[in-house]
Amino acid sequence: MTKVLTQYSDHPDSHTIAFYESHSGYQAARKALTTMQPADVIAEVKTSGLRGRGGAGFPTGMKWGFIPASSPKPKYLIVNADESEPGTFKDRYLIENEPHMLLEGVIIASYAIGAHHAYIYIRGEFATQAERLGQAIAEAYQHGYFGKDLFGSGYDLEFTLHRGAGAYICGEETALINSLEGKRGYPRLKPPFPATNGAWDCPTCVNNVETIATVPWILAHGAAEYAKMGILVPADEPGKPPKADSRGTRLMCVSGHVNKPGVYEVELGTPVSDLLEKCGGIRNGNKLKAVIPGGSSTPILTAEEALGAKLTYEDMARLKTMFGSGGMMFIDETQCMVRLLKVLTHFYAHESCGQCTPCREGTDWLSQIIARLEDGQGAEKDLQTIKEVCVNMENRTVCPLAAAATMPTTSYLAKFQSEFDEHVRRQGCPQRHEARLPVGVS
Ligand code: SF4
Repeated sequence: MTKVLTQYSDHPDSHTIAFYESHSGYQAARKALTTMQPADVIAEVKTSGLRGRGGAGFPTGMKWGFIPASSPKPKYLIVNADESEPGTFKDRYLIENEPHMLLEGVIIASYAIGAHHAYIYIRGEFATQAERLGQAIAEAYQHGYFGKDLFGSGYDLEFTLHRGAGAYICGEETALINSLEGKRGYPRLKPPFPATNGAWDCPTCVNNVETIATVPWILAHGAAEYAKMGILVPADEPGKPPKADSRGTRLMCVSGHVNKPGVYEVELGTPVSDLLEKCGGIRNGNKLKAVIPGGSSTPILTAEEALGAKLTYEDMARLKTMFGSGGMMFIDETQCMVRLLKVLTHFYAHESCGQCTPCREGTDWLSQIIARLEDGQGAEKDLQTIKEVCVNMENRTVCPLAAAATMPTTSYLAKFQSEFDEHVRRQGCPQRHEARLPVGVS
């Protein structure tokens, strides 16, 4: 398959500007700025079918098109590198190995939306990656890729690297914007949306690292080449959205009970079973029990569901889950699902920003009740209480963090109810001594 993002990632010098330039680096940005109008760039990205790789899967070209070109206010591009969803580590990989691909994408995206200042908001814990990115930015400035009159086009672009302080919630775009502005990282009510009222109340586009890093390839090879990869099923009637639209490649972060965890670039539409095979299968010859498809907040799949699915937005939606951030965790038969849920709910309780009562209290209640169950002190009525707490948290909060806790909780209960019942009946975990957490979840 064609590798869009990781063709050279294994090379020890892939992060240097010399290596990147010697492999046609920054030529796509040159082409965009010197031969295309911003609207043409947006149209090209729309044609490619690229969808946001951060979690929501929103069409990237359409998102860029929401930035009002006629607004007299400054416009901003922010790259969201606050990668914190458990099980997700692809953006970190790209920053370490392909920082200039990301920076070239920043130039093209900024030009397309009319921004003259771009930011990368990088997760606080990513110290090594921030250092590498800082070096790459300095190199790019030295080579004239940031600053004044890029490629002699008359277009100016400044760039700022901003380090977060370690809050998961700052991965939510409006919390990120607040944090970037120097305020507390509280999510904002929407509308208004960042496209019109983002950073410093100006039009702002927030894109994920992988999304932006994909853009140079699309400009260099053409949207049609990108759109050939993956799956597109057109609508039956003209004017309607396609029945399936999962085009291009994406990075899958594979962790859990597999023999070869890591970052894998796959063409969309690849069967989950093929990805598992690439990862060397389940370790110790064990049986697959479940799969978390797109980061810890996505509803879990049983082995049968997962192995019958393809890596597409549509297949995940059909199974009432999400492709999310591409953080796929394979879980084998030795894993206690109650214990796994205990770890996840503890995480979301810890990371709730506390702004909304249903989330602040609800995530903590879920965490406490599930911990009690796992600890052998659960009662039958606890299972009903968990379901009621979830219902009372849903659609009552400012941001989706509450749903990030309730979606896995309800799916674990629905698909692995017998394990929860057994914990109540036996007042503890039947396999306490064998229980293992997937790699990457702690
Ligand atoms: Fe904060 Fe939770 Fe409300 Fe989101 S849902 S704003 S994390 S309290």
